[in-house]
Amino acid sequence: MDINAANIEEIVKKVLAGMSTTTTSTARQTGVPKTARVGMLTAIEKMEVKEFPIPEVGDDDILVKVEGCGICGTDAHEFRKDPFGLIPVALGHEGTGEIVKIGKNVTKDSAGKPIGIGDKIVTCMIFKDNPDITMFDLNKQNVGGADVYGLLPDNDPTNHLKGWFSDYILIKGNAGSTFFNVSDLDLDSRILIEPSAVLVHAVERAKTTNILRFNSRVVIQGCGPIGLLCVAVLRTLGVEHIVTVDGNEKRLEFSKKFGAEATVNFKDFKGIEELSKGVQNAFGGKLADFGFQCTGSPAGHSNIYKFIRNGGGLCELGFFINGGDATINPHFDICSKELTLVGSWVYTLRDYATTFDFLKRANGIGLPVKELITHKFPLSRIQEAFETNVRQEGLKIAVVAD
Ligand SMILES: [Zn+2]
Repeated sequence: MDINAANIEEIVKKVLAGMSTTTTSTARQTGVPKTARVGMLTAIEKMEVKEFPIPEVGDDDILVKVEGCGICGTDAHEFRKDPFGLIPVALGHEGTGEIVKIGKNVTKDSAGKPIGIGDKIVTCMIFKDNPDITMFDLNKQNVGGADVYGLLPDNDPTNHLKGWFSDYILIKGNAGSTFFNVSDLDLDSRILIEPSAVLVHAVERAKTTNILRFNSRVVIQGCGPIGLLCVAVLRTLGVEHIVTVDGNEKRLEFSKKFGAEATVNFKDFKGIEELSKGVQNAFGGKLADFGFQCTGSPAGHSNIYKFIRNGGGLCELGFFINGGDATINPHFDICSKELTLVGSWVYTLRDYATTFDFLKRANGIGLPVKELITHKFPLSRIQEAFETNVRQEGLKIAVVAD
């Protein structure tokens, strides 16, 4: 075969042309479709998968291809009753995915870590103005305008990609959004960041009482995802004497895998006196030094005081929304006991960043935190995913990319 100079020039041109369509960033961007599916709550108990155009990605924005998102208790409340009055709303705030397009002004995440195309990220519900700001402060100060992904009404005709139950989500950099590069965590760990942050915060609150120590006896009431993660966070801190209380034997068994030393099924006991004795026996004859109340049940709140010794401490974190009044006896439960009580709600931005380390440590010491995700549904079956969650089957239900 006779290859002359002209042939070679032709071949080089062809090769270069081929290269330019496969290696430049424009090529990666053209991989983004024109539309995306969004799981939208359009009526009570009705999740619809709708298709919307993917908006332009501005200089301050990030387009993320969603890999997965957990269903939160808050999502389930929204699904059943819309207590926040958001319908129609693109739900999903426990989500994570890969950056596929990024505006030229976005070079770092909210912790100052560099980010770019291909990185895995999560968003946080707390804005970056003040690293210690909590949801409570936000409500108090009535701070508006920032994007809380997955909990904002669908009222912007130019952008419907505001929740993580979708194919793509658009992060608005100039709206005060907070987001983190978590490329060093696997998908399941990333899905569990948001609920885990609730426990990192609760334990930080508990520590302010100065009662929680390495060798403390800790009772955890409620073995849903929050109670189980509470066991795990305490284990990563080195707390070993943990007793869990629940009415579901399967969940109690699961809490042992997470590091609970003993379990108490409240259904085995008649009345609070007997139940309190049961907890005491589980600790080898002593009451707890500290308690974490992780159920949304007012009776659960009333009961937990009876599990804690004089001079002990209690962290109440079970009531994310108003679950009604609980009855206690202030003399016996608080005063004569000299109990120290703290409440905990959501988390701070700093707790969120601490949570990445918690998940690495939990993996490191062999806690099966990822087994919390018991069900995965594709986006097309989001209605079923929510119904499964509402029936309280499994623990953490996740919606994942098809
Ligand atoms: Zn949540």
